Amino acid sequence: MPPAHPFDDDKLHEECGIFGVTGVQDAANFVALGLHALQHRGQEAGGIVTHDPEQGFNSARRFGYVRDNFTSTDIMETLPGPLAIGHVRYSTAGAKGAAIRDVQPFFGEFAMGGAAIAHNGNITNADALRRELIERGSIFQSSSDSECIIHLMARSLQRNIPERMEDALRRVEGAFSIVAMTRTKLIGVRDPLGVRPLVLGQIGDGWVLSSETCALDIIGADFVREIEPGEMVVISPDTGVESLFPFRRQKPRFCIFEHVYFSRPDSILGGRSVYETRAAIGRELAKENPVDADLVCPVPDSGTPAAIGFSQESGIPYAMGIIRNQYMGRTFIEPTEQIRNMGVRLKLNVNRALIRGKRVILVDDSVVRGTTSRKIKEMILDAGAKEVHFRIASPPTAWPCFYGVDTPQREKLLAATMSEDEMRDHLAVDSLKFISLDGLYRAVGEASGRNSSCPQYCDACFSGEYPVKPADMIEKGFEMKPAAE
Ligand code: SF4
Repeated sequence: MPPAHPFDDDKLHEECGIFGVTGVQDAANFVALGLHALQHRGQEAGGIVTHDPEQGFNSARRFGYVRDNFTSTDIMETLPGPLAIGHVRYSTAGAKGAAIRDVQPFFGEFAMGGAAIAHNGNITNADALRRELIERGSIFQSSSDSECIIHLMARSLQRNIPERMEDALRRVEGAFSIVAMTRTKLIGVRDPLGVRPLVLGQIGDGWVLSSETCALDIIGADFVREIEPGEMVVISPDTGVESLFPFRRQKPRFCIFEHVYFSRPDSILGGRSVYETRAAIGRELAKENPVDADLVCPVPDSGTPAAIGFSQESGIPYAMGIIRNQYMGRTFIEPTEQIRNMGVRLKLNVNRALIRGKRVILVDDSVVRGTTSRKIKEMILDAGAKEVHFRIASPPTAWPCFYGVDTPQREKLLAATMSEDEMRDHLAVDSLKFISLDGLYRAVGEASGRNSSCPQYCDACFSGEYPVKPADMIEKGFEMKPAAE
């Protein structure tokens, strides 16, 4: 298993990426490419399950990058068939750095045949479900919340697998985008709030489901549409796409942080280019928080589109003041203490000639613990900058996410314990400003901002208003924001 990147703990981590395809020859090859394009959604492990009419179900699950596992002929030859699903994971539920048994897709054998499922999101009542299922005799193989779905399906009395899945998912609370398969069908489902993304694509006579559109592009599939919140699609190459709405309809609450950071900038979300949205966030940020300066520099790479937008709006020149070492990644071999102390310098370097004597605006997507922001500021000052101004393309992250994003405990979030001015002093920068929640809503296309009585998105990590009560976490002592606050 690759070591977790030592300097990568100051970001929120998306969760998982899912991908499935039916009606193509050697579907596993397409899934491997799709998962490779979704690698930013999870780097810890990946898995593929296939079905072949003659050879039945086959699977391979491995720790590490897709490119290091699912490019080898030895593995890919064991995954024949025209139907396949896959999953990349950064563990959100289940033990961190856990065993291979926690790696998805999960597989279950039912009376009417086998089924495999890959889940992106987090089940907020998984502890209670697991307890109940174990009491009733279920034997769990993993520590993952997603396995509950397989056991709930096993207990359902419905006749076929899609109906059993519906039954199971009605018991599940929280966020789920799911790609599943039977011997003949590819199935996609989004939770009623549509917290996590899922899109439908077409390739020749075949069909594709993916977390993001960037993974359709890599295999040359056409983007058809997003799976709607609360929708289940059951797909076979012969009958096409059957669409069902098995859950009580609710107002959607898509994760607004997908627009800010998680999704790839070359994906399309809600009909808009993620890159364009991020540039719009930068423009809004500049309108709300102008400052006199000489240069606008992104904290690479995630701050880049917002920095371009900030520069467009403010008229202050954009410059690559910080250069990222593209080959650092997470694959760096276990660092020694001495190397670890070099910290962020291993990954980012300041373009000294550009920075010296300048008043610099640094645009970043978010501030989580603040450790990286502090180090970057020091590097910029060491390089001779006259002033450092941070502009952040999201509101202060003050609450943990329980819907499939790895966040530190609340007390570790800088914004949970400090005001904006205190954070500025803590980071020792000349100014620190965040986009407002309303500004962020405007930038993602909500012209009149956030509807506070019925927010259009999930923004719980900023607002503390959770669209689904995190039941398991409350049981473990998590305190929700009081309603009146
Ligand atoms: S809490 Fe934040 S990161 Fe989690 S789903 Fe909601 S907006 Fe997204």
